[in-house]
Amino acid sequence: MLARTIGRTVVEMIQGDITTVKADAVVNAANSALAGGGGVDGAIHRAGGPDILAECRRLGGCATGDAKPTSAGRLPARWVIHTVGPVYNPLRAEESARLLGSAYRRSIEVADQLGARSVAFPAISCGVYGYPLADAADVVWETLAQTLPGHPNIEKVLLVQFNMHAYDAYEAAAPTE
Ligand code: ADP
Repeated sequence: MLARTIGRTVVEMIQGDITTVKADAVVNAANSALAGGGGVDGAIHRAGGPDILAECRRLGGCATGDAKPTSAGRLPARWVIHTVGPVYNPLRAEESARLLGSAYRRSIEVADQLGARSVAFPAISCGVYGYPLADAADVVWETLAQTLPGHPNIEKVLLVQFNMHAYDAYEAAAPTE
C-alpha cells in the first residue's frame, strides 16, 4: 500500500475491487446517461442492488466532468458518487485532462457537501474510455494536490486499482514523500 498526505488528507492506494471497500462514499465511473454499464459501473450496480439505478434514473443524467450522488444500496458505503470521465481523445488531450481532473474535483466537492470523511475512487476513464494510465495518473495526483487542501474534512481518499498494471502507473506518478 502506498500513502501520501495532501493537506490534511491521507491518500492511500490499494489494489482490489472497489465494491468491497469500506468508505463513506464510493465513486462510480458512470456514463452520462447514468444508465449503468460494464466495468466498474456494472460491478457497483450488481453489488449494490437495483435501488441505485432507480435513483440514477431520477437524476436526469450527468455531464462529463460532473458528479451526482445516490445512496449506496447494499455496498459497504453510505453514498455512491456517479461521475463521468471523458472518453480519451488523443487529438484533444488537454480537454481530456481538464475533464478528467474535473471528474475527480467535482466528486470530492460532492463528497464534502454530503459530509463524507472517506472517499474511494476507481481509475476513472482508464477502462473502456481509453485514457492512457500514465497520463491519467498524472492528472489524478495533480488534481488531488490542487483540490484536497480546500477540503480538510475529507480525512481519507482511497485510490483503488483493479490490477497491478494500473497500480504501478499510479505509483510511478505519485508525488515524492
Ligand atoms: P471507464 O468507462 O471510465 O473507462 P471502466 O469501468 O471501463 O470505466 O474502467 C475504469 C477502471 O476501473 C479500469 O481501470 C478498470 O480496470 C477498473 N475496474 C473495473 N472493475 C472494477 C472494480 N470492481 N473495482 C475497481 N476498479 C475496477
